[in-house]
Amino acid sequence: MSPDGNITARTKSSPREIRSFINGDYVKSSGGKTFESRCPADDSLAAVVDEATREDVDRAVKAAHAALHGPWGRMDVAERAALLDRVADIITERVDEFADAEISDTGKLIGPTLKGEIPRGATQFRVFAEMARTGFQMAPIASETPMGNATNYPERAPKGVIAAICPWNLPFVLSTWKIAPALACGNTIVVKPSEETPVTATLLGDVMNAAGVPAGVYNVVNGYGPDSAGAFLVAHPGVNAITFTGETRTGAAIAAGAASGIKDVSLELGGKNPGVIFADCDFDKAVASVAAAVFHNCGQVCLCTERLYVERPIFNKFVEALKAKAEAMTPGDPRNPATTLSPLISLGHREKVLSYFEAARKDGATIVTGGGVPEMDEAFAGGAWVKPTIWTGLSEDSRVVKEEVFGPVCHIQPFDNEEEAIACANNSDYGLAATVWSADQNRARRVASQIEAGVVWVNGWMIRELRSPFGGFKKSGIGREGGEFSLDFYTEIRNVCVSDS
Ligand code: NAD
Repeated sequence: MSPDGNITARTKSSPREIRSFINGDYVKSSGGKTFESRCPADDSLAAVVDEATREDVDRAVKAAHAALHGPWGRMDVAERAALLDRVADIITERVDEFADAEISDTGKLIGPTLKGEIPRGATQFRVFAEMARTGFQMAPIASETPMGNATNYPERAPKGVIAAICPWNLPFVLSTWKIAPALACGNTIVVKPSEETPVTATLLGDVMNAAGVPAGVYNVVNGYGPDSAGAFLVAHPGVNAITFTGETRTGAAIAAGAASGIKDVSLELGGKNPGVIFADCDFDKAVASVAAAVFHNCGQVCLCTERLYVERPIFNKFVEALKAKAEAMTPGDPRNPATTLSPLISLGHREKVLSYFEAARKDGATIVTGGGVPEMDEAFAGGAWVKPTIWTGLSEDSRVVKEEVFGPVCHIQPFDNEEEAIACANNSDYGLAATVWSADQNRARRVASQIEAGVVWVNGWMIRELRSPFGGFKKSGIGREGGEFSLDFYTEIRNVCVSDS
């Protein structure tokens, strides 16, 4: 810890010390237990983290309630929006510090972290500050009824204390995606970052203080899920709604906990996303974009493509071109701009990914490339590396084609007509994202409209406007967030009915 009690900068010999952030202060765990977060690029110790107890979570929720009914609840919308803009400004000023923290926790590549993910986290605050200024008004409804005439004024009110339970794959982007709309709508929040990636959400507490956000509005409790901070938060009676991003199985456990407390829940869950590539596509553009969709962040983005369906006339050429892209990727120091492949999040997750490599082998896959662990320099030999991997020849009911691997992998299968491609794309329990590639806009749009997924990109991937709706069909989630779609989750609607007589 630094003398003022904030998070220390990390060097290899001195990992960061991370505490919970409650009521505007960094506080030690009341239970005195800590856990470690390790950098997956080299398995070095990134942070020693205080594990929040049930009592710590209770303090955080009570602080959030006090702020809700205190200065934050009484604050004018314009003032609230100005504070959120200030939060964005300070993140921008401290972008290097946030990027360094995120890289230590995740092994992410410096370019996309510094120029993409951290600035996007700042942008979320600006987008929702602007919405708070302009977007909350609803049109009045005049009514003439046998009971009398009246004018109805529906208005949005904060939902209360929001619990945000976050994953490790895009820690800052996905936590700010919840924090910014929650605060813009006048709620207060308790964030539970992933145990793998506790640093940036905790660091944000310091930014909130520097911006002048009142104590208790933003709180962070660190820990695990079951029997730890995550479960304590879900069960706490003072939490009014839960926004969760993570695995489908975890989402089911959280939804069950939320149901018993009659808490609203927003679930952004797993995927097994298809890409449909027609023979008339812009081939080079499609290959380059699909390579990013499969291998970006080592395949650890919920929107990554793991199933590819390629029209038969270009199947072999496409497989060869994607193989060349995979084999050109260079793992290594995430802080070196020349590195193009990052590690998996942990050695534990690598075990899971390697078990899928084995399952593919047993199911008789043709391993086009990859399927193992790359040789690394001594400095990175302890990291959670795997080779970018492409399979062909598996049946649709192979585990590798059905289950989310969350690694730099894909299975490629040929198709012969539009109906077959659509049926294959929809042959999944999940429905988060998809891509369609064709020069024929009418066909691409027609196919896109038949795919069961929350977002379908045509001739692109990951072009994501923060104001557009985001969420999943089927087991990929419940609810939509993003722009004005976030308002329905983060607010309650009160109808004030004023009698005309
Ligand atoms: P995870 O479900 O293992 O963990 C997510 C969070 O939930 C962590 O903070 C964890 O501590 C907490 N948690 C676990 N069990 C809990 C419980 N019983 N009660 C309360 N909290 C609990 O997910 P992960 O491994 O961190 O993230 C990867 C998964 O997230 C993938 O499946 C990926 O597809 C999904 N994801 C989805 C989206 C989306 O927008 N749909 C975005 C990113 C990631």
